[in-house]
Amino acid sequence: MIAFLSDIHSNTEALGAVFEVIDREKVDRILCLGDIIGYGPEPRETLRTIMQRCEFSLRGNHEEGALLNASDFNPRARVAIDWTKKQLTPPACQRQESFAFWNYLDKLERSRRDGDMLLVHGSPKDPVREYIVPKDAADRAKLAEWFSLFDGAKVCFVGHSHVPGVYLESGRYLSPQDVGGTFELGSERAIVNIGSVGQPRDGDTRASFVFFDGKRVRFERVTYAFEKTMAKIRATGVLPEYLAERLANGR
Ligand code: ZN
Repeated sequence: MIAFLSDIHSNTEALGAVFEVIDREKVDRILCLGDIIGYGPEPRETLRTIMQRCEFSLRGNHEEGALLNASDFNPRARVAIDWTKKQLTPPACQRQESFAFWNYLDKLERSRRDGDMLLVHGSPKDPVREYIVPKDAADRAKLAEWFSLFDGAKVCFVGHSHVPGVYLESGRYLSPQDVGGTFELGSERAIVNIGSVGQPRDGDTRASFVFFDGKRVRFERVTYAFEKTMAKIRATGVLPEYLAERLANGR
């Protein structure tokens, strides 16, 4: 069984709650689809955990923003990226670990083919930056292009939009509720968005991730102490208040 995580966004409370659930299951692999950092208050702690516990992570737009440039980010996301870069580049005492963080970020791949799976942060077309959202299910041309880039895979796992669900090749979007929490792969190819651990945007404040046994995708939601994360965001004195508030709204 594989546990997939994505979009942790420097939220250690959410990540800790997710690992409590994962650690109760018989899991063979833990894979991260990117956006480990950005937005949240604890980039170092979050990176440390992901580096220790995940077989690999992919590169998200926030990693790319920190490594290259964040010129296409909205102002609030850019404030968070600039602050995050500072946290990862502190004074001498933590120099060695900081070097390891940047080295790790620099080596993150943009996509992976793994067995029957294609893994990306964004979309098959733009693995780092393109969003897949429910209304795209009605856009035949967009869907056809994404599925044409599957490279032999049967299922593609993505993150990035922070809205979990399944996109079928025939042009349907199914929310986790629509499938009763579990989606079983059939003859039709699918794109599965696993949602966000650290900043859900589907109106549900709980951390989102999935388990995959090769056939069934099980959507999971976990309650965590978002008030603590909100307090830590405010305590930075730099990260925008909006980034705290949205955790309480799941938006
Ligand atoms: Zn994200």
